[in-house]
Amino acid sequence: MKPAPAYVRTTTADQADYAFTDALTGLGNMRRFFDKIDRLIDDRADDPAPFAIGVLDLDGFKPINDLFGRAAGDEILQQVALRLRAAMDESSTVTRIGADEFAFLYPMVFSEEAARERTRLLIEVLSAPYDVGHRTARLSASAGCSLFYSDDETSEILLNKAETALYQAKRSGRGAVVVYTREMEEAAKRVTHIEQALRRAVAAGEVEPHFQPIVDLGTRRTIGFETLARWTDRDLGPVSPGVFIPIAEERGIIGPLSQLVLRKATEAARGWPSNLFLSFNLSPSQLVDHNTGLQILSILERTGFDPRRLEIEITETGLMNDPASAQRIVEDLRRVGIRVSLDDFGTGQSSLGRLREFQFDKLKIDRAFVSSILDDRPSEHIIRAILAMCEGLGMDVVAEGIEAEAQADRLVQFGCGGGQGFLFGRPCDADATLGYLRETAMRPPLRKIAG
Ligand code: C2E
Ligand code: CA
Ligand code: CA
Repeated sequence: MKPAPAYVRTTTADQADYAFTDALTGLGNMRRFFDKIDRLIDDRADDPAPFAIGVLDLDGFKPINDLFGRAAGDEILQQVALRLRAAMDESSTVTRIGADEFAFLYPMVFSEEAARERTRLLIEVLSAPYDVGHRTARLSASAGCSLFYSDDETSEILLNKAETALYQAKRSGRGAVVVYTREMEEAAKRVTHIEQALRRAVAAGEVEPHFQPIVDLGTRRTIGFETLARWTDRDLGPVSPGVFIPIAEERGIIGPLSQLVLRKATEAARGWPSNLFLSFNLSPSQLVDHNTGLQILSILERTGFDPRRLEIEITETGLMNDPASAQRIVEDLRRVGIRVSLDDFGTGQSSLGRLREFQFDKLKIDRAFVSSILDDRPSEHIIRAILAMCEGLGMDVVAEGIEAEAQADRLVQFGCGGGQGFLFGRPCDADATLGYLRETAMRPPLRKIAG
């Protein structure tokens, strides 16, 4: 019979110890971490001194595992554990709580600044090269910290906050440390407040479509309208879509919100002259949802709006997450005559390759280029290049955010067909839009000569 491996222990006390230990590194595990925090919270019951915890995640550990092999990966994790343990003072503890995630507890760190400083040191310690056989590997790590201030916080809440901070650190690039501050806490509360109010508003049908005219730049005739969601909450007052749309996306409310706004928008647009199109924004998260296409079609069916008068605006970000899913949705929509535009072109991760993979009917040049067209040579060249490209690809173009006559003139001169912006009209509700249409219908078309 083979002797039992060293880590198999039989006494009850040792068994308990084993349950609290990470076999690979010998550090404490998640249970140990929670146990330590809970004890410290108890100890601090009568003592208001704060303390800090942190979570640290190795950046790009998986590629190292793939490149050097699993055994080497384990070896690196053990070296990481050794370095972290050596960097702890006698009151602090480090544990391993996930594959490449470590957590530490600093009972004697009392401020956000001190937590940040200490954690930066850990990241520095981990950045020195690792020996793996004959080779060396380098690693960076990101970390998030949180502070315990009051005893209505539990260890779970504290860890959640540190994880939130870690998530932000990861988003800001490699090797960052973020401390969950009271400002972040306030901001998180505000987001939750908006989320709850928005859920209620969507259920009560209180989000409204507003409409901004899109014109033929040559004649200044209105050719369609972009739908822009507007929401005024009883307590919060008007909330900008720049705020509530990202929250709706993140918290899974964008689907119902979008359906509500599209329903109301198509109901309003039925009463417009039939040569006008209605444009509608789809969020990136809706392009990974297989139901999106069907939902749009069923709304059009119910409201009796001609799909050939509808345009859907999507951004490149929306195509990146799951290109295959976006492709399917776009194809389904185009099959019934819905036109698809590429919104905010020129910002974000623009890729010209996208224009080969996807068929767009229209491209919208981002406001950033339009606003600097008069005083910035690069913007001018970029716009001209975009226009030439669209002509070659047979796509319509709309320049967004036109505020001044001189900008419109210059765009006409370059051959840009469509325009949108405060110069031609601000977004208005359904009634005001009808009024605008009556008024402009009576005006003779204005033909501008570029010069
Ligand atoms: P977007 O799709 O790029 O919409 C254009 C934004 O530019 C609108 O902001 C519009 O009011 C603003 N704008 C138009 N002309 C001008 C101008 O001449 N100057 C300036 N400074 N701004 C101009 P808004 O309404 O605040 O919407 C912000 C963003 O929120 C939209 O950007 C869109 O991404 C999103 N959004 C709005 N409604 C919806 C919606 O129903 N669904 C989805 N998914 N997103 C929406
Ligand atoms: Ca848009
Ligand atoms: Ca846009």
